[in-house]
Amino acid sequence: MVLVIGIGLGTRMLKNFLHGSKTYEATVLMGTETDTQDSAGTAVGTAPFDCVTREALEELLPSFRGPIMQVPPMYSALKVKGKRLYQLAPALGVYGEGHPFGDPSWYQAYNTPYYNDTHKQFRKIMREYVDEHIMSNVHDWDEKGVIPKEMYLEAGKQGTLALCIGRPWPEKYFGKAPWGFEPDYFHELIMYDEMSRTGSVGFQWGVAGGTTIGLPPVYHHGSEELKDRVMPPCVKGEKVCCLAITEPTAGSDVANLKCSAKLEGDFYILNGEKKWITNGIFADFFTVACRTGKPGVGGISLLLVEKDMPGVETRKMKCSGAWSSGTTYITFDDVKVPKGNLLGKEGKGFQYMMQNFNHERFAFCAMSTRFARVCLEDSLKFAGKRKTFGKTLIQHPVIRWKVAEMARQIEATHNWLEWITYQLKTMPKLEAMLKLGGHTALCKVQCTKVMEYCAREAAQIFGGLSYSRGGQGEKVERLNREVRAMAIPGGSEEIMLDLGVKQSTKLAQMAKMFAEAAPQQGAAKL
Ligand SMILES: Cc1cc2nc3c(=O)[nH]c(=O)nc-3n(C[C@H](O)[C@H](O)[C@H](O)COP(=O)(O)OP(=O)(O)OC[C@H]3O[C@@H](n4cnc5c(N)ncnc54)[C@H](O)[C@@H]3O)c2cc1C
Repeated sequence: MVLVIGIGLGTRMLKNFLHGSKTYEATVLMGTETDTQDSAGTAVGTAPFDCVTREALEELLPSFRGPIMQVPPMYSALKVKGKRLYQLAPALGVYGEGHPFGDPSWYQAYNTPYYNDTHKQFRKIMREYVDEHIMSNVHDWDEKGVIPKEMYLEAGKQGTLALCIGRPWPEKYFGKAPWGFEPDYFHELIMYDEMSRTGSVGFQWGVAGGTTIGLPPVYHHGSEELKDRVMPPCVKGEKVCCLAITEPTAGSDVANLKCSAKLEGDFYILNGEKKWITNGIFADFFTVACRTGKPGVGGISLLLVEKDMPGVETRKMKCSGAWSSGTTYITFDDVKVPKGNLLGKEGKGFQYMMQNFNHERFAFCAMSTRFARVCLEDSLKFAGKRKTFGKTLIQHPVIRWKVAEMARQIEATHNWLEWITYQLKTMPKLEAMLKLGGHTALCKVQCTKVMEYCAREAAQIFGGLSYSRGGQGEKVERLNREVRAMAIPGGSEEIMLDLGVKQSTKLAQMAKMFAEAAPQQGAAKL
């Protein structure tokens, strides 16, 4: 057995590899910095941090007898005897490229209470799928403003779209889950996380956006006839669904929406406009919030509108980013919508939308946190090879400080996200709705602010390359432009902060009330 010793950031990783009584089969024969190379075969140079001392190592591993090797922090770019170190990483219990903080901590052989073998299996499936079929294409798809139809079909076949609609798994409309196990919210988290490695909001929203936000109201409130007709093609990627709530004059203030539907015989006559609708231009089905009754939230209903109904018009909007998810302006002009396309009951639309908000925001959180990580990971890779003033960027303390600031925010945020995922997984739906609204709203703000911070810092690290499209700075340039596409929809930051406090206060008051009414049960029973 050979021991690999980390330097600087590598040390943190290493302590984990070496903890406990595990035996490491790593056949890594790592030389000093002189025979370490980057992917182009160029010597990387001296590691910028102090080496771990032999004394410290002996203290850490009293039983170790083998040879001692060194791993500089940028080790995943290094080749050891012709093999990249990250190819050897699985032997050390690591999954992924092994960049410090480049993946969630459970990828880097840290202990976790949340993940089991099915999650590991699923992570591998998703990573290979993204690396082989998606990663190198997203830039083109974004520039062209469209994701090829085959991608939707492939995502459908994979089960990815069915996973987007939350639990329970839609067996009736899709069949059994293709992976041989029933997925939970952690599988869904892994799916968003891995797909977001593309660093493309447009791709994520293009494929998953409409399904995550538009389809659940159909799944939970549509009639059996409607579900049988709409669910199978949507979860299989043959058809696309979107959610149309926002209007030119009503965004955050949903209660004020004006789009109206009047019942005439067997049809609702729908009139109005919707703005910034993700996937609207590609959609076959539109879950539309409209007014069927009195002013305020009690007069709002949800109708399922179909693309080929006369009077539906879509126009792609010119936006700063997320080009491949086709942000759309929609006009409904005397559209005749059959009564059977009403989702649930009249006047309950607002309630139905609220029911899906935690799940929708959970998806936003998962995506933005990985987008932040992409900024960190790409920064690390770039800073390890770009030289200024005779040193690589990472050798400048100011740049290391930037990476550290990103890392501490991402790690804290990811831990909160996993905690929310665990609550979603273990709570009945009603309890989750009641208890998680405040946390999810605040976590969404946390995630998008961290994404914003990381996109900015990464752009500074990339310099001019973060200002030109494509090439080395591709992801950072794009994400820097797309921050607002995560921070505004799904509940804009100001609204989320306010809601987070209001909901949590209300919950605490309710808990107190219950505790007073039944002191023997206590607030924890709420
Ligand atoms: C990329 C993208 C995709 C989208 N996709 C969809 C979609 O698929 N379906 C859909 O229906 N909509 C979609 N939207 C619209 C989105 O939901 C709205 O933009 C959002 O709800 C905010 O509404 P608004 O833009 O009208 O801003 P407004 O509601 O006009 O608010 C403007 C700003 O003021 C702040 N603000 C508002 N009220 C208050 C207050 N009381 N106190 C303090 N601050 C306040 C808000 O936080 C916001 O930052 C999308 C938007 C974007 C950018």
